[in-house]
Amino acid sequence: MEWKFDFATAGSIHFGCGKIKGIVDLLTRVDGPVLVVHGKNAEAASQLTRQLDSSGLAWESFVISGEPAVDTAAQGAEAARKLGAGQVAAVGGGSVMDAGKAIAALATNPGPPSDYLEVVGRNLPLTHRPLPITAIPTTAGTGSEVTRNAVLAVPEARVKVSLRSHWLLPQAAVVDPTLTVSVPPAVTAATGMDALTQVLEPVLSLRANPMTDLLCEEGLRVGCNALMSAYEDGQNLEARTKMAWVSLLGGLALANAGLGAVHGLAGPIGGMCAAGHGEICAALLAAVTRVNLRCAAAGRGSPELVRRFDQVGKWLTGSEHASAEDGVRKLQAMRKALHIRGLAALGVKREDFGTIIKKAQVASSMRANPIQLQPDELMEILEEGSES
Ligand code: NAD
Repeated sequence: MEWKFDFATAGSIHFGCGKIKGIVDLLTRVDGPVLVVHGKNAEAASQLTRQLDSSGLAWESFVISGEPAVDTAAQGAEAARKLGAGQVAAVGGGSVMDAGKAIAALATNPGPPSDYLEVVGRNLPLTHRPLPITAIPTTAGTGSEVTRNAVLAVPEARVKVSLRSHWLLPQAAVVDPTLTVSVPPAVTAATGMDALTQVLEPVLSLRANPMTDLLCEEGLRVGCNALMSAYEDGQNLEARTKMAWVSLLGGLALANAGLGAVHGLAGPIGGMCAAGHGEICAALLAAVTRVNLRCAAAGRGSPELVRRFDQVGKWLTGSEHASAEDGVRKLQAMRKALHIRGLAALGVKREDFGTIIKKAQVASSMRANPIQLQPDELMEILEEGSES
């Protein structure tokens, strides 16, 4: 690995239990009302809007249900323009934060969302700065509070793709683990496995750098135990704090080193079935890691890759004697212990595997995978990921 890298993140990061209480001071000082983007459950957002009210700041809310599609983002941008919003505050899971980021960008940039979308759109750069964004996660999974993309579903192409720009980095990321305590166990499991994926894929990525390696090592050392504890007892604030930390580390790492085949497959699959992003990643993680490792051991990747896999095995298991294969076994055991459903149970049909593979091969995340996986290897992964 070359000791040469760039690293970009949110304007500021505010981490810790109770950080939501000082949120008004973390918004940017601009004219115009705040567009508060939130999910169906407005409880977390109300902690922000109560403070806005007592500070005399005008605001309006825009509600997101489910993972955002291009139309949702376009409608939100229209709402922001009508309101004359000066900034966007997004309080919710990755779906809400991504919606907020896309709305902030589309509110100031002309034309349809497809102008700015990768893979299926024109992939044009933004020409105007988005409205300033404050991102406040209520799940521990995506790390979107510190990433420079917003994932949107494109229903007519049956795929999820990103709107990407350096300008999508929020001006402030406010990570308060208390906001995640209400997340139910199945969502804790799925989003937590996404967080784990996002500290694993960047360390094996072709774009890994010394800074992201450091972040991933910490995330992989902490993630497995913290996720099991948060799953078993959602009120365990120490475990919730550690998972919020792992999720943040994943966001920092992926924004600067990219991802891999789990996310390369998850984009197309997410556009073709109703399952949540976390569940899809959770179903695929062990299978992708196993196949990547087999290819690495056969000499298909860089010589350093095998050493990296061994290191991952040690970090995941917490044992200095563990091998790369032990790391895969740990991921398989996690999938079982967290009752992660297979792709078949999530509604992914076998007859769609061919289309998924074709779309995955051109997905942006696939380009960072350390091995150039062949269609038959992607098929093997989908078959293993389908098992319950
Ligand atoms: P999500 O935001 O869709 O939330 C999952 C479920 O949990 C929803 O039903 C939501 O209402 C609920 N929820 C959220 N917070 C809650 C809380 N505190 N208590 C109870 N319920 C709560 O799931 P997610 O995994 O956080 O985000 C997924 C989205 O993020 C996908 O669209 C995915 O593609 C995207 N993503 C983006 C990035 C990025 O860097 N921009 C990275 C990874 C994933």
